[in-house]
Amino acid sequence: MERSRYQVMITDCDHGSIEEEKEELGRIGAEVILAQIREEEDLIRVCKEADGLINQYAILNRNVLSHLPKCKVIARYGVGVDSIDLRAATDLGIIVANVPDYCIDEVATHTVAMLLTLIRKTAFFDRKVKSSQWDFRQGAPIHRIQGKSLGLIGCGKIGFEVAKRISTFGVKVMAFDPYIHSTGEKIELTDLETILRKSDFISIHCPLNESTRHLISEKEFKKMERKPFLLNTSRGPIVNEKALIQALEEGRISGAGLDVLETEPPGPENPMLKMENVIFSPHVGFYSEESISELKRRTAKNVSDVLMGRRPGSMVNQEVISKTRATISMD
Ligand code: NAD
Repeated sequence: MERSRYQVMITDCDHGSIEEEKEELGRIGAEVILAQIREEEDLIRVCKEADGLINQYAILNRNVLSHLPKCKVIARYGVGVDSIDLRAATDLGIIVANVPDYCIDEVATHTVAMLLTLIRKTAFFDRKVKSSQWDFRQGAPIHRIQGKSLGLIGCGKIGFEVAKRISTFGVKVMAFDPYIHSTGEKIELTDLETILRKSDFISIHCPLNESTRHLISEKEFKKMERKPFLLNTSRGPIVNEKALIQALEEGRISGAGLDVLETEPPGPENPMLKMENVIFSPHVGFYSEESISELKRRTAKNVSDVLMGRRPGSMVNQEVISKTRATISMD
């Protein structure tokens, strides 16, 4: 049998099927193989003929990359590329691509769903009714959402979509984001201090990095004058969990909606598991059938773009372009 024009190896993935990847890469006559391997020796042995890689968790370090002489592109499922040695990839002329925006709708909607659940106490009432308690007073106090203020910490793609959705409930939106200078008329840009002092709800949408780790800690909780509900659908370590637990115990905040935690999953001893005013979801904000399908298709498209001489939708190591192994058109 004739060898396909290109070989694309999926090192590993937990998505169940690779139909979208096969369909997308089939258009350029590429053979797609799902290897499901993570060990260094296996990666070197199995991927050595590959023109492109798709990767989820397998660690692609310098040693692995330097044994892939034909590889022109590595496409990572999702945003993070910490499984790939970026410097080594760049040195070797391998383009690294990701898909940073496949689940904006999902995370924004999930955030608003958590906020509404906290405000209307729907999860609380559901538990009560299922244990044969039918009494609306058990949920008191409940406050009207209209006229309240939401403070966003980070107002990029997801924060902006949260603002759009929550505005339709008559909520005023403020945002602290040191890297943006305009947001449109519906969002008032302000400083962190004002967000902490003046918000009825605070929602975190900045990335986790050295400057945002424990951005919300004891000192910040003490500034929360309006006993806000806190939402975190971004990354757990942005909030100091010990300080969060203390703030909940002292009644400094009204409750929390957490899709992400410092330790995922939480240990059974985590006191928040017993708090009626804290709701959890298991880091699921990104997920819908549609978002996963889009992610798979766009990851595969990143590979086919490079193999066809085009820039991928999102290139992580821009500086590789002067020495890439691929022939990329500059149009
Ligand atoms: P984005 O890059 O579009 O927006 C992030 C915003 O945060 C940017 O506007 C940036 O200027 C701002 N920012 C950076 N540092 C800041 C700081 N110190 N203080 C305040 N703002 C700061 O990213 P996005 O697509 O909106 O995603 C936001 C975060 O959501 C991601 O970093 C990721 O951690 C998280 N996320 C979670 C899930 C999930 O399943 N729960 C899924 C996808 C993304």
